[in-house]
Amino acid sequence: MTAAAPKLRDPSALDAFLAEIDGVPTVLDPVVVRRRSRDFFWYSPVLNAELKDKAADVMVSPRDEAEVIRVAAAAARHRIPITPRGGATGNYGQAVPLAGGILLDMLALDRIAWSKPGIVRVEPGAKMHDIDAALRPTGWELRMHPSTKRTATIGGFVAGGSGGVGSVTYGGLREPGNILAARVVTVEETPRVIELRGDAAQKINRAYGTTGIITMLEMPLAPAWPWVDVILACDTFEAAFAAGKAVARADGVVKKLLTPIDTPIPDYFGPLKPACPAGKAVLLAMIAEPSLEVFRDIVAPFGTITHEEPTDEGAGKVPLYEYAWNHTTLQWLKADRSVTYLQCLFPPDRLEETVFAMRERFAEDLVAHCEFIRFAGSVTCSALPVVRYTTKERLDEMIAVHEANGVLIANPHVVTLEDGSRHKRADADQIGFKAEVDPYGLLNPGKMRTYVPRAG
Ligand code: FAD
Repeated sequence: MTAAAPKLRDPSALDAFLAEIDGVPTVLDPVVVRRRSRDFFWYSPVLNAELKDKAADVMVSPRDEAEVIRVAAAAARHRIPITPRGGATGNYGQAVPLAGGILLDMLALDRIAWSKPGIVRVEPGAKMHDIDAALRPTGWELRMHPSTKRTATIGGFVAGGSGGVGSVTYGGLREPGNILAARVVTVEETPRVIELRGDAAQKINRAYGTTGIITMLEMPLAPAWPWVDVILACDTFEAAFAAGKAVARADGVVKKLLTPIDTPIPDYFGPLKPACPAGKAVLLAMIAEPSLEVFRDIVAPFGTITHEEPTDEGAGKVPLYEYAWNHTTLQWLKADRSVTYLQCLFPPDRLEETVFAMRERFAEDLVAHCEFIRFAGSVTCSALPVVRYTTKERLDEMIAVHEANGVLIANPHVVTLEDGSRHKRADADQIGFKAEVDPYGLLNPGKMRTYVPRAG
């Protein structure tokens, strides 16, 4: 169920809005606007039916914070919904405008304000790949990034993502210290600019852009190691999982990715197939070059290393992380659209028990794909199993069984953040903050279902 969303009060509002933001780049061509109003919601057959016809009325592309403020003020005056958009790689229609209005393309705000050892201050439209490329000569890089690093923005990651490559060491964005500060513009007749520091920055984390327009972020950095992509082929998923767990718990081994994947998922890995023998489960890993020797010793009892190459993110190259996280699902979807996925978090104290119980319980519908991460101080697994889709009812049943077994599910088949974010969100008062920054409920309406606008 999506919450009621405001409609344009009066059709001439859009014309008046456009006149007020004269000089800010806009696109009105309905074909282009419709194409840009989409993200990767089609991963979910449920959302595909629900969202495929949704589009904004206009795309507006501010070039700096001053233009964002002009757009926010005019939108508030004319009560026009605003949906911020970064790279539009979100998976559940996070950047799809449910109530038309303005699609706020943030890609032109892509400057790095400054960086110093351990911290970067950067505009939200910067692509994570570009940020890391700019920082690499300084010896630093982002602590974590989604597997969509090459197309996704840092603003979209903070507002819509949860973690990814690097979370095996640093946990997700929700962990204290993984977002240092955010600057947001409010949607009011006279917009305010608010700097959220420390804990307060979590008010915009995975809020789907409903709690302010982010115009700057301060993110913590990690040492930029020479990373090596490694594939370990194993006779069983149990062995791939055990190898991953042993490395995840080896605190002296510097790593960025540990991904055990069951058969037959690697059959869909195209160019990597020579390193993924038929019938074998795999562990995908990114290991810092100085830790490779110890890594090899740890995994030796569990399988055979079939691939070992320096991570290459250059043009035309496919780094190993583009087979992990939600790229794993994509590799299968490229060949077969009958599958979808779930997003799970397994309890650290019953990790194996729950991973293997769910795999056995749903042997007919689900193929296991785990991601080792740190969560609230413990090593555990997040998971994006590939699921054979039959009906929504069957998906709901699978979710209910997981939850009854203590496995948390962030449901990727709904658009609301209350149902879709769950364990991925921090414990911040996002709804209270929304009342402060978006009194008319114009920011990405329909996504925060429990919010009732405090003003008309
Ligand atoms: P968008 O999709 O454009 O936006 C995401 C949300 O942020 C929207 O609600 C939007 O309104 C809001 N937003 C964007 N910019 C702003 C702003 N300036 N101010 C306020 N709100 C804003 N996610 C992960 O966390 N980890 C993964 O490993 C991962 N892997 C993926 C793999 C694939 C193949 C795909 C398709 C998706 C994956 N995702 C993953 C989801 C998504 O790619 C990431 O969350 C990504 O960081 C989103 O960034 P984006 O720029 O594309 O954001």
